[in-house]
Amino acid sequence: MTHEFLRPRPNPRLVSIVMPFYNEQEIFPLLRPQLSQFLDNSPYPCEVIAVNDGSSDQTIDLLVDWAKADPRIKVLNLSRNFGHQYASTAGIDHASGDAIVLIDADLQDPLEVIHQMVEQYCKGYDVVCGQRVARAGESVVKKFTAWVFYRSMRVFFLKNLPPDVGDFRLMSRRCLDSLREMRELHRFLRGMVAWVGYPQICVPYQRQARAAGETKYPLRKMIRLAWTAAISFSALPLRLSFLGAAAMTLVALEEAARALVAHFSGKTVPGWTSLMLVLCLSNAALMIAVGILGEYVGRIYEEGKGRPLYLVADSWNLAQRENPEDAAGFHRLNEADDKAVYRP
Ligand code: UDP
Ligand code: MG
Repeated sequence: MTHEFLRPRPNPRLVSIVMPFYNEQEIFPLLRPQLSQFLDNSPYPCEVIAVNDGSSDQTIDLLVDWAKADPRIKVLNLSRNFGHQYASTAGIDHASGDAIVLIDADLQDPLEVIHQMVEQYCKGYDVVCGQRVARAGESVVKKFTAWVFYRSMRVFFLKNLPPDVGDFRLMSRRCLDSLREMRELHRFLRGMVAWVGYPQICVPYQRQARAAGETKYPLRKMIRLAWTAAISFSALPLRLSFLGAAAMTLVALEEAARALVAHFSGKTVPGWTSLMLVLCLSNAALMIAVGILGEYVGRIYEEGKGRPLYLVADSWNLAQRENPEDAAGFHRLNEADDKAVYRP
C-alpha cells in the first residue's frame, strides 16, 4: 500500500527549461531554431535558463545575442568552469517556473519529451525522469560504463536510483524547493532528487546522438562523478574500513596466540614473543582506533551536508504549504501507477 497522494493540477503557469552550456558553440545553428519553435508552439508559457559554465569559445556571445532577441531566454554566466552539476544547480536556483525541466544543451534528449513529462506533472507527479531505452551514437565504452555504474549504484549505494536515468527530468516547485535546501558541496543531482522523495515516475525515450560538438564528459570526469555518487549516499566505504580493521584485529590476536604457544613450547629465541605480542596487539588497537575515527568523520561528513531532516509531502488541518488553487483534490496512487513509481 502506498503512502503517496497524487495531487492533479492544471498546466504549469510557467515551465523553466534549465540548460547548462560548456563550449557548445557548434550546437547553436541547430538548437536555436529547434528550441525557438518549441517555445512558440508550447501550450504553456516557458522560459529558458541558459547557464554558461565558463566556456572558452563563442558560447556566451551566442547566448547573449539570443537573449537580446528573445526575452524568454535568460542567461547566467558563471565566473569560470564549475562543472555540469554546479551549472545545473545555478540554473535551477534561478528558475521561477511551477515546473522545472533540466536538459542538456546538445539535443541528445528530444524536446518533445517535455510534453510527456508535463502530462505526468498534471497527473500529480512531482518528479518525472526521462529513462533512456536506447542510446544512439555513444561509444561501447560509454554504454558499458553507464550500465555498470547504474547497476552497482543500485546494488551498493542507492537501491532506488532508477536505472538509465540521467539528469534529464522535470521537477515540481515543491520538489525543487526541497532540493534547494540541500547545499552540499559534492553534488550528484539525480541521487539527491531520489533522496528528496515525493511521487516520482519515469517516461521512456530514445536518447539521440549528440547533434554537434563533442562530449564534455571524458572518462576522468565520469569516474569522478561516479565516486561522488557512491560516497555521497552511503557510509559503506567507511564501514568497509571498519570491517577491515576488525578482520585485521582477529589476525593479530591469532598471531599473538601462536607466538605465546611457541614461547611455552620453548621453540623461540628470548625476546621474540614479547616483541610479537606488543607488535600484534598495538597494531590491532591502532586499527580499531582508526576505524572508530572513521565512524566519527563519517558522521561529521553527514552533518556537514546539512540536509533537511525530513520533508512533508501533504498535511491535513495544518497550514498548507501548497497553493490551494493548484490542488483539485487528492487521491492515492493506484496499483498500476504504483509499480511505475520508484522510491528512494
Ligand atoms: N556541461 C557543463 N559543464 C561541464 C561539462 C558539461 O555545463 O563542465 C554541459 C554540457 O554543455 C552539456 C551537458 O553539460 O549541455 C552534458 O554534457 P555532455 O553532453 O558533454 O555529456 P554526455 O551527454 O556526453 O554525458
Ligand atoms: Mg550529451
